[in-house]
Amino acid sequence: MLPEPIQKLVFALERLPGIGPKTASRLAFFLLRAPEEISNQLAEALTELKTKIAFCRDCFNITTAGRELCEICESSQRDAAVICVVEEPLDEQAFERIGAYRGKYHVLQGVLSPIEGIGPNDLKIAQLLARIERGGVQEVILATNPSMEGEATAQYLHPRIQALGVKVTRLARGLPVGGDLEYADQNTLLRALSGRQEMS
Ligand SMILES: [Zn+2]
Repeated sequence: MLPEPIQKLVFALERLPGIGPKTASRLAFFLLRAPEEISNQLAEALTELKTKIAFCRDCFNITTAGRELCEICESSQRDAAVICVVEEPLDEQAFERIGAYRGKYHVLQGVLSPIEGIGPNDLKIAQLLARIERGGVQEVILATNPSMEGEATAQYLHPRIQALGVKVTRLARGLPVGGDLEYADQNTLLRALSGRQEMS
């Protein structure tokens, strides 16, 4: 039997995605042996993650704790008639880096993945549909990754958004298949965005 503090850490680590019991105990014993500075840094980062960061009420991107909306949702300079749907906050940042997009975003916080047991209710899909139902949206760009899961998520969203009377577009091909938007170079991403096509 392991001492309780180690058991507790192993248990907590095991709950993280992709970490099995073996990796969890290896990490726990690593932290036990490592200089205190390493575990302190980790503990502090974990605490700050939840006290200093929150999710935007409208788009579910990350924002500073205490703020309801992120900067983009708050901004009157951004076109609320266009919503670009991405998987993760980092994908949104990739679009922001090219600087050519003036609409808003919606972060799904993942993709549909039957293998990992991630269904529609695990993503911010109902919130996206509710947001469109509130009106004022003319186009939704499905900018999920060109992976199998990203495609399946776009296919799932397409009829549901179209049913609300909104134009649905998908990024143009040209992004490396199976790749991650987050790592696409700016020109490729810009081409994919400007060449987006209505889904049929
Ligand atoms: Zn927002």
